[in-house]
Amino acid sequence: MLAQGRRVEKLELDLAGFIGARFAVALNSGTSALHLALLALKIKPGDEVVTSSYVCTGVLNAINYTGAKVKLADINPDDFNISVDSVKRAISRKTKVIIVPHMFGLAADMDGLRKFGIPLLEDCALSVGATYKGRQVGSFGCAAVFSFYATKMLATAEGGALVTNNREINSFARDRRDYDNKDSYEVRFNYKLNDIQAAMGIQQLKGLRSFISHRQKIAAMYNNSLSDLGIRLALTAAKRTHVYFRYCIRGRDSSDNIIKKLRAFGIEAKKPVFKPLHNYLGLSDKEYPVTAQVYKTVVSLPIYPLLKEAQARFIIDKVRSVLK
Ligand SMILES: *Cc1c(COP(=O)(O)O)cnc(C)c1O
Repeated sequence: MLAQGRRVEKLELDLAGFIGARFAVALNSGTSALHLALLALKIKPGDEVVTSSYVCTGVLNAINYTGAKVKLADINPDDFNISVDSVKRAISRKTKVIIVPHMFGLAADMDGLRKFGIPLLEDCALSVGATYKGRQVGSFGCAAVFSFYATKMLATAEGGALVTNNREINSFARDRRDYDNKDSYEVRFNYKLNDIQAAMGIQQLKGLRSFISHRQKIAAMYNNSLSDLGIRLALTAAKRTHVYFRYCIRGRDSSDNIIKKLRAFGIEAKKPVFKPLHNYLGLSDKEYPVTAQVYKTVVSLPIYPLLKEAQARFIIDKVRSVLK
């Protein structure tokens, strides 16, 4: 098969097994996975969906596809995840679901978020393999979404998946991803992953543990060698394993200068989120003070499975010279 076939089925079984969930539905993107998850939860105009301001616009798009209203929450200053206190202020009687992105490889506060009694949709695009209290992210919410875009933890060029223990959500997503050969008409989509992509995904998933341990090794080098510079380093948290999708440092000043100087050395330092959602929506930085401050000051350093230790040492050297 070129299109959706047996390799897609195998990737689904492998992914569900890895996460420890009953079902996985492979899809053509993380955005499609969010869209189908929201439709499966019957999100519609008039409903409200809460999510973090500090995430990519893919999340905002998926909410807007459904016609529901987005309510943004601020983040924590240490792990960049959605803030439980801020979520508390954002929820209302119309809130039907909270989309919880696990940012940059570290799980959000699932215990704190579960207390609201509102369904949680986990966004694991940046954190597949991360654990919270010993369990894989993606196994806590009513469903979880994954992206296999080229730069993510698992890459198939483009792709995604929806993972759930819920039989109805699983069969809804399976039905709606494919429009052909149906007895009755519903509005459906062409959201299928293909076997070429799935073949990559199966191999990527086999490599995931070694990818993660390499990322952790590079992160430990950064932690050890940058700790005396008076900047905040990536958080190492109790009861959560960090898979270091991004390694972020943060000083008090604007990150633009640091990024420019590192790039002059050929180091691709970046802001890890292009622009916070509240800025796109014309909402004030005063309402999202932590997101605004993090956005202004954070720098993500190169970290990926093929980054060599010698390259990491070069990066450490240059970061030290820039921040000194
Ligand atoms: C990348 C990403 C998405 C969207 O995934 P695509 O495959 O690019 O559609 C959604 N949420 C988060 C947190 C992401 O990082």
